Order: sequence, then C-alpha cells, then structure tokens
Amino acid sequence: STPNTKKKKSEHIRVVCRLRPPNDEEIQKKSPVCVKVEDDQTLKIDVKNEVQEFTYDRIFNMNDAQNEVYEDVAAPIIEDLMNGVNSAIIAYGQTGSGKTYTMQGPNFETNLNWFNSETENWGITPRIVSDVFGKAAVDTSYQYQISVSFVEIYNERIRDLLFHKTKQSEIQPKDPDNLTIMELKNKGLWILNATTIPTTDINQVIELLKSGLKRRSVAKTNSNEESSRSHAIFVLSVKKIDTVESVERFSQLYLVDLAGSETVSKSLTSGERLDEAKKINTSLLALRQVIFALTNKQITHIPYRDSKLTRILQNSLGGNTRACLIINCSPCAFNANETLSTLKFGSRTR
Ligand code: ADP
Ligand code: MG
Repeated sequence: STPNTKKKKSEHIRVVCRLRPPNDEEIQKKSPVCVKVEDDQTLKIDVKNEVQEFTYDRIFNMNDAQNEVYEDVAAPIIEDLMNGVNSAIIAYGQTGSGKTYTMQGPNFETNLNWFNSETENWGITPRIVSDVFGKAAVDTSYQYQISVSFVEIYNERIRDLLFHKTKQSEIQPKDPDNLTIMELKNKGLWILNATTIPTTDINQVIELLKSGLKRRSVAKTNSNEESSRSHAIFVLSVKKIDTVESVERFSQLYLVDLAGSETVSKSLTSGERLDEAKKINTSLLALRQVIFALTNKQITHIPYRDSKLTRILQNSLGGNTRACLIINCSPCAFNANETLSTLKFGSRTR
C-alpha cells in the first residue's frame, strides 16, 4: 500500500485488528505463526510464501490485554454515548478467532462466579456498562436512564432475545422471532417491539445478557455450532435528561458479535445450510460494502438497505459517530486463508 493510505484516518468508522494467541489445535499441529505485527498500524501476513501488508487504525498483538483494547476502542465511544451520539462496536472474524472473547470476555456463560472472578478478562461490553453507570452516577447535572435490548439476526430474521423478560401486560401482538424494522420520524431506524428493559446497575445488565444468551441457544439444536451462524446485537440505550431545561437526549450503542465469517469463503452443500450461508453472507457482504463506502470519501452512496444487519446499524455507523469494526484473527498458518479473507474485509482497499 502507498504511504498515503497509511496516514489517512477515517472520520467515520475505525477499523482495528486483534490477533489472538495460538490455540490448542494450532499448537498441537505445530502451525507456525504467519502474521507479523510491524508496528501499531501495520502487519504482514505470509500465505504460502506470498507476503502481503495491511494497515489499520490500530493493531492489537496476541498478548495485548483486554483493557488495552477497551481504552482504545471504547473510551471515545462512551463519551459519545453519554452525549447523545449513536455508535457501534462490531466484532468480525472466523469462528474461534476471539470475537466473543473481545466483546464479552472468556467463560461468560460457564463461570457462575464470572462477575467477581474474571474482572481482568472482562471484554468490551461489561467494561462499557460499568463505565456508563459510573459516569452517570457522578454526573449530577443530568439524570440518566439506561436500558438494554438484545436481539439476534438468524437467517435474515430478527429474534428478540429478551422477549421472555417482557411484562405480560406489555406484550404486544408480535412474533418475537421475526421483528420488523421501522423508520420513525424522531428516532430514525428502530427495531419495532424489541423488548427494552430499564436497568439501574451492572449486575442487572450482566444477568440480562446471560439470560438472552440462554434464550439464543435454547432454540438451537446444536448451540455452539448454531450460535456462530447468527449475529448477536446487544443494544445499550441512554436517555440523558436535563431536568432544569427539561431537554432530553437519546442515544444508542450497538455491540455486535457477528456470525463466523468462514461461511463467506467456504462453499457449502445444498439445501438448508446453503440457504443459511447465503443469508449470513447477505448481511456480512452488505456490511463489507457499507464499511468500505464509509471509509472511502469518494463513495457517497452507502448501501444500508441491502441487509437487516446494515439497516439496524444505519443510525450508528454514519454521521459523526466513532464506530469501530474489530477484525479478529488467528496468527497461525493453519488458518491463514481465513485470516487473509478477514484482513481483506477490514481493508480500505479492495
Ligand atoms: P469466536 O467468538 O470468534 O468464535 P472466541 O472468543 O470464543 O471466538 O475465542 C475462541 C477461544 O480462544 C476461546 O477459548 C477464547 O477464550 C480464546 N481467545 C480468544 N481470543 C483470545 C485472546 N485475545 N487471548 C486469550 N485467549 C483468547
Ligand atoms: Mg463467539
């Protein structure tokens, strides 16, 4: 790439890359590390002796800690969120590349004492929630109302993962497994009837996240496999109320753990799986087009309407947001082809 593209920073969306350490399978196979981090913004990947260079807004190497990622990616976005600006943090990568580790942290669903025992390893979402409640508590000039929603997109259908938490009296006639997107005058695009729960502390939010993840996997025959085929979207909404002037500001942060990207590059068998793969591709390919358009100033048409995912994210990717795409990668030759495809997904050049 030219020195020109390297220095150019996107105004809209940042793209950062995170490498995870080699996993057991790669270690067992003695698969060599094929990605070399040159500096904070440049890496080289060697695929069968062909070396390619990529640049991003920031690169996290395999031993970089959760809090380093958090400081770089989330801190500016929280400022926006508390000031009425929508935003999004999106994790992309093949299954096993560290998306969930980055967004939630490890052992989230298995460790019953997670809240107290894994704080060092907390991912972006719990850290953000903790920070938002902390900031809201000390800012006495405003009143804050924080609420959460949790949906997944599976086969181009939006499922409400918190439907079971809706009060009976508030249940609207709707199909919680097929929510619709509406364009509202004052709020922009909106997932109609998605359950929204007002929250007052981090414990409550963690419980809702866990509860939604349970609902996500219960409906699936093979939870691990199937959950990697849907996009999980956790929405943190902040209403900031100036009680003196009686002015309100409303903003949302979309925290997205995408379906495994391997379906994009692998050819699948026919039937249901192929249809499913095509639908995952619809959203991921549309996201690629949207991000590419947003990071290239000469492109003016942003094709949000091409998928459910990009429509949902429309309010939080354009405009003056500091949204961030995190591309998660394996460092080892065993996964080099998937890693290369992931690196290209986040690249500003075609
Ligand atoms: P994905 O959600 O992309 O399928 P996971 O986040 O579940 O991948 O990560 C796969 C495995 O690798 C998990 O056991 C996870 O704990 C581990 N892992 C991922 N990223 C890191 C990291 N940066 N440091 C240490 N372990 C990691
Ligand atoms: Mg995952």
